[in-house]
Amino acid sequence: MATQKGAFMRGLDHMIIKEIEKPAAGPGNVVVALEYIGICGSDIHYYHAGKVGAYTVDLTQDYMLGHEAAGTVVEVGEGVTNLQVGDRVALEPGVTCGHCEFCKTGYYNLCPDVQFLATPPVPGCNEEFIEHPADWCFKLPDNVSTKEGALIEPLSVGFHAANQGGVGVGDTVVILGSGCIGLCTLLSAKAHGAGQIIVADIVEARLNKAKELGADVVINSGKENVLERVAELTGGRGADKVFETSGAAVCIQQTPYLARRGGVVVLVGISVQSDISYSFAQIMDKELTIKSVFRYRNIFPKAIAAVAKGAIDVKQIVTHEFDFDHIDDAYQKCVNNRTDLVKAVIKVKG
Ligand SMILES: [Zn+2]
Ligand SMILES: [Zn+2]
Repeated sequence: MATQKGAFMRGLDHMIIKEIEKPAAGPGNVVVALEYIGICGSDIHYYHAGKVGAYTVDLTQDYMLGHEAAGTVVEVGEGVTNLQVGDRVALEPGVTCGHCEFCKTGYYNLCPDVQFLATPPVPGCNEEFIEHPADWCFKLPDNVSTKEGALIEPLSVGFHAANQGGVGVGDTVVILGSGCIGLCTLLSAKAHGAGQIIVADIVEARLNKAKELGADVVINSGKENVLERVAELTGGRGADKVFETSGAAVCIQQTPYLARRGGVVVLVGISVQSDISYSFAQIMDKELTIKSVFRYRNIFPKAIAAVAKGAIDVKQIVTHEFDFDHIDDAYQKCVNNRTDLVKAVIKVKG
């Protein structure tokens, strides 16, 4: 049997690498030799706490994380017409049923039967080779690297958020949270033509990154009052579009106060708390629109095109890179180094 290396959680805060079977391409599928894999906030939560929301890792077994990946097609299964050996691709990690009401109407991110990489019990892609449906592999143009390809997944969340918020030219935008998804929302808002972009977080390194990526104003919400600062910056009007990407209850509660009358609030970050008190008086008084984001739909080709065109420089969000053999070290650093690590990627090959 042909083998490959795969990385697995073994209990909490511990990852091992073992030899596993190398996949072959079944009908409709391709085998991709992975080159870069991103480490997502959800991966870190599973690694450190064993769960994200209602999804729990069965800690009695080894479990593979990872869902942000790109690489080169090395084998093509029967009936695949859109890809050839040698094509470089980004993997969309959610494989949907294709038959339900939501899939049929284009809202496939809401498919109840989705098989999403690294969402227990579905294993992830922290491995050298993966078999994946050709339909969910998107070809990268020559000027988009596989490192950028691995970042298309988180970028798609930010892109979907900007779409849900209907960010338009000149809009004043507030983004709460400046982690990977906050930064991807920032890049997407910028690409959609936003005017003033204000980003708030409590981690200085993340705010510096936001500044580097084009935030006009950053607010350290640990030191400054965000509501006062935003009121000041917008002449008391509030922002056209407010994005909450941190998942912190206190930030979610701030959103209606930050939006202008008739503005839009987009909830992106997932809170550990399911019930949060929220000012409905603010919503009613301002006639706010509240939108939410669950992953993304129909975005990968557009996100890739935006990167290829230079409208979004997604690779800038990466602060740390590790090779595959040091994956446990990489995850450890993601858990412990909150001072200068914003986004880490694993280089599998090359
Ligand atoms: Zn992710
Ligand atoms: Zn479906």
